[in-house]
Amino acid sequence: MTLKNEPPTSEILPQIIPRAEHNISRDDISKNALKVLYRLHNAGYQAFLVGGCVRDELLELHPKDFDVATNAHPEEIKALFGNCRLIGRRFRLAHVRFGQEVIEVATFRASVGEEEDHADAVQDTHGRILRDNVYGTIEEDVWRRDFTCNALYYNIADFSVWDYVGGVEHIRQRRLVLIGDPERRLREDPVRMLRAVRFAAKLDFTVDPAVEQAMHDCVGRLASVPPARLFDEFLKMFQGGHAERTFELLWHYRLFDQLFPETARELDRSESFGRFVKSALVNTDRRVAEGKSVTPMFLLGVFFWEPVRIRASKMLDDEGGSETHALAVAAFDLSGAQQRILSIPKRFTGPMREMLALQPRFEVMRGRRGLGLLEHRRFRAAYDFLMLRAEAGDADEQTAKFWTDVQLQSAEEREKSFEISGPGRKSSKKRKPRRRRRPANQP
Ligand code: ATP
Ligand code: MG
Repeated sequence: MTLKNEPPTSEILPQIIPRAEHNISRDDISKNALKVLYRLHNAGYQAFLVGGCVRDELLELHPKDFDVATNAHPEEIKALFGNCRLIGRRFRLAHVRFGQEVIEVATFRASVGEEEDHADAVQDTHGRILRDNVYGTIEEDVWRRDFTCNALYYNIADFSVWDYVGGVEHIRQRRLVLIGDPERRLREDPVRMLRAVRFAAKLDFTVDPAVEQAMHDCVGRLASVPPARLFDEFLKMFQGGHAERTFELLWHYRLFDQLFPETARELDRSESFGRFVKSALVNTDRRVAEGKSVTPMFLLGVFFWEPVRIRASKMLDDEGGSETHALAVAAFDLSGAQQRILSIPKRFTGPMREMLALQPRFEVMRGRRGLGLLEHRRFRAAYDFLMLRAEAGDADEQTAKFWTDVQLQSAEEREKSFEISGPGRKSSKKRKPRRRRRPANQP
């Protein structure tokens, strides 16, 4: 059957795939999501799973969360669930909490066309959606979704899948297709370009040529997206276990230079910086695959390393001073410039600056100053960063080995390694007690 990939002018019926013809089993659906679906259904509302979880189930992947769509309005949802909170400014959503798990329940919403004039739907002069709280039916809800693979609905009433846009077929073909006119959809919300890249990397899908063309024409529009939203998307893109592929695609579609212009400039210039960034991405993906924690400050530090170094060396040429200080100032300046595009919360920029500024201190392998670095609250992150630099040929391997070895040594062995002789701690002179530093809270 042919399906129109456009909002309907008259009524359009979904292709309904009965339970016997798809692989989604209730055994694979979160028990809590099922509870929510059944309670809505039993109260007489429509209740569907929608979005990424349906897509992932069809692909036999484990969804990371389960989203519910319904014709019940937020207040009606709240009345049904004691453990429910209404959240959101941009979208009004219900969060139903079961311990650690939150099931997001959204009321069907209508998409906002450029020529429409809803009091509750606001667009800027470039057609970007600012707010869209216009409730609708499932037939309307489907058209505001981004990709066809994300617009499938699993109906709890009979366990069928409803497909208005050919999403099931596109999933089979592993194609990422935007619903409606690609350029208009990207203008409405330029973050969809980053989502395209993220899904292509995660699902190993190809981006539809029409979407690629529209992306080519719309890259510059990312500049209109609020910097905080871009940071959220950065986390999703780089901490989902597919950072390396995501980076390649961002680079390919010239999106990376929109997000990190100074990093992109240095990547163009320096192959060794490229190798460094690549090993950091591979390393991040490995950590995610092993279930280890990843902190955004590490990868951001990697992206900033070369531009910070260049800024710092200019500063040293002009003003002199210590390298550590110059790096700290340069990192401060660069993160300041970066905030205008993609804003990084302070809790990450502070540690990142310290991690970068500590790098020259690894060259000090003698004396109490050298030894003292082991006690620094940012030692662990700075050391991991050094190891990555060494792996990429950016730091001396012997130096890296020295710092690996000393961590395993006893106090006496360390004094020897750092060539500390003389009175030191055994001095009879009374020393001022040192203030204890707060323990590091970074991994
Ligand atoms: P993930 O596996 O990352 O959770 P997802 O597809 O579930 O992927 P979410 O960001 O959780 O992505 O969004 C849930 C659903 O909401 C999407 O599948 C899509 O239908 C819709 N959606 C989310 N963001 C947008 C957007 N910017 N434009 C249009 N639709 C969107
Ligand atoms: Mg999701």
